Amino acid sequence: MNSWITPSISHLKGKRFLIGLSVCLTLSLGTVLLLLWFPDPASIHRYAELALIVETLLLGALCVSTRIRQKQSVTQLEELIAQKNQISFLNARITNLINAATQVAVITTDPQGRIQVFSEGAQVLFGFSREEMLGRNNVEKLHVQEEIDARRLAHPELQSLTDKQLIGQLCIDDNGSSKATEWSYRRKDGSRFTGELRHARFSDANSGQVEHISVIIDVSERIELLNRIKESKALLTLLTQHIPNVLYQYHLLGPGDGFFSFCSRSVENVFELKADAVVGVNFAGNPLFQRLHPEDLPMIRAVTAKSMETAEGWMCDFRVILPVKGVRWLRGESYAERQPDQSCVWYGSFSDITELKDREEKLRTQAITDELTGIYNRRHFMSALEHLVDTGKRYAAGFSLIMFDLDHFKSINDRFGHDVGDAVLKETCALIRQRLRASDVFCRIGGEELAILCPFTSQENAEQLANVLCQSLAGHEIAVAGRVTASFGVATWNTDIAADELLRRADQASYSAKQAGRNQVVNA
Ligand code: GH3
Ligand code: MG
Ligand code: MG
Repeated sequence: MNSWITPSISHLKGKRFLIGLSVCLTLSLGTVLLLLWFPDPASIHRYAELALIVETLLLGALCVSTRIRQKQSVTQLEELIAQKNQISFLNARITNLINAATQVAVITTDPQGRIQVFSEGAQVLFGFSREEMLGRNNVEKLHVQEEIDARRLAHPELQSLTDKQLIGQLCIDDNGSSKATEWSYRRKDGSRFTGELRHARFSDANSGQVEHISVIIDVSERIELLNRIKESKALLTLLTQHIPNVLYQYHLLGPGDGFFSFCSRSVENVFELKADAVVGVNFAGNPLFQRLHPEDLPMIRAVTAKSMETAEGWMCDFRVILPVKGVRWLRGESYAERQPDQSCVWYGSFSDITELKDREEKLRTQAITDELTGIYNRRHFMSALEHLVDTGKRYAAGFSLIMFDLDHFKSINDRFGHDVGDAVLKETCALIRQRLRASDVFCRIGGEELAILCPFTSQENAEQLANVLCQSLAGHEIAVAGRVTASFGVATWNTDIAADELLRRADQASYSAKQAGRNQVVNA
């Protein structure tokens, strides 16, 4: 810059000097002419003196002004040099900045479309060297032509634009501002990548010409990642939507505070609720928790509170009340994960186990029921007896046992056949059963040996009951076999005797009733 500033300053100084010199020469020439032209030498001398004085004064003034001008010019020159240095420094900084960002390609083109800047990042991204690109009018060739054609087809109003204009136009939003757009780009080696393009036009303040700047970032990895996330989500949805169990992720923030961040679609079936109504909704307003059976709430609270405290998983069976299906049994299971902020995340499932529960209940009933008569079997009799002894000991609650055996039952079988014998057994049990309280435990403990456990029943009351049963059986006519009788033995438990001793006593009493002529009650 020095070179172009310096000559113009000296040029300026030279011009002023010449003007001053020509004024002096004119004055000198004027003086000489006056000397030659004036006839009176005395007056000539006066004029010449005057002229010389004026000339000397002018020359002096000229020298002073030239000196001042010279000083001003030097100051201006120094300022200009300082500005030039600053501009060079800024230029270098911008160039360094542009080149430092090797992940970003910066390309500028002049009004004729020739590449002016092809940054370090552009070289890395596209594989072309600066030398190969600078001055070329081919920036649009970095794009994939088929994509440009496809976008042109999608925008019929832009048909008439050149490729370069089309790209520029698609980088402007409806408000006329620059917007980021994604494009496929081709590298020198033919490979492709997806880049996010920001394009801007700016005009040179001096020339007024419009130049273009394009900033391109490789977003292939980001897109790849987003695609993978989308695929994982789709897979998760696909995997979970056909599983009958509700799979969920629940963020437990504190007692009575938390929300589901994921809930599979089967929640529609299991809770009769849409996943949208459940996910992200806080505990207090979550309709899922309003479906829980009130009787099971304390148990659920205890189980989940323990899990929150220990960050261990939990499992429990509970009931829900659904608008359509009514009461259902669910099994909730969860694996817990403690978070850095001490909250807990549960990963788990809810499954409808109503059928399982029903089957379990049936099996449990079957296991303790006598198939022929429908009353309890010997297994249940033994456990109920043990239970009564245990609670009797703990709460000092007495109970009685009535045992009875059908009289001459063998002869019924012999006379009418085994099937009739069965029918007699069934009818006898049905008759006795209807005379008992709900708290009495009526069991078939052998072939035609039956027993009744009567909780909170004294010896006297048990004996009374046994007599009622004995009489009603004897007075009852069985269609297929006539009247049937039985011999009853009654024993009452007290804290001093064990279960088998009570059994032995009742059995002995029943035997005594047989010995005494059958169809009667004997008290142990
Ligand atoms: P008692 O008790 O009065 O002394 O005479 P009993 O004939 O009843 O005595 P016993 O013990 O000799 O015979 C019991 C009979 O009960 C023998 C057996 O065939 C019959 N019995 C046991 N279980 C069943 C059953 O499930 N169905 C039928 N039909 N008979 C049974
Ligand atoms: Mg018998
Ligand atoms: Mg018998």
